[in-house]
Amino acid sequence: MLKYIGQSGCIPYSLAKMTFTEAEMTANKYGPAAGDEEKWQSELTEEQFHVLRQKGTEAPFTGKYNDFHQKGLFLCAACGNALFASDDKYDSGSGWPSFTKPVNSENIATNRDFSHNMVRTEAVCAKCGSHLGHVFDDGPEPLAQRWCINSVALEFEQKDGSGPKE
Ligand SMILES: [Zn+2]
Repeated sequence: MLKYIGQSGCIPYSLAKMTFTEAEMTANKYGPAAGDEEKWQSELTEEQFHVLRQKGTEAPFTGKYNDFHQKGLFLCAACGNALFASDDKYDSGSGWPSFTKPVNSENIATNRDFSHNMVRTEAVCAKCGSHLGHVFDDGPEPLAQRWCINSVALEFEQKDGSGPKE
């Protein structure tokens, strides 16, 4: 059995602002291309496949990038698309790697997610459609965004010229 918790995952600290119009709730279909799943299953680890392709969530405080402070770039573990910069990473206390913004607005797409009796905004890789995590509006100022991302969805690329490795 997989050890992931499907029930809560990244949860919003407040549901106060989570109301949407019917149009917003139906205009929500960004997903992976059909038929690729066998390929992904052979290329990804079981954990990666569960999170990235089946929208799973790793248990909090278990991911390799939760307590991680190296300088560099976080890439999509499925396709290598650049997603987040270490300069935008912060400690949200949620147990998942958290970022104040994506590395740019083109590389990440968002979906409304109505699973688990919550309304959340799902973050997906804009290149391959893989599930990354969720984004909430309770992050630090000035952007107030909290990108709550599964470590297993990320690969880390250390910044060149960052000095000798320890
Ligand atoms: Zn990707």
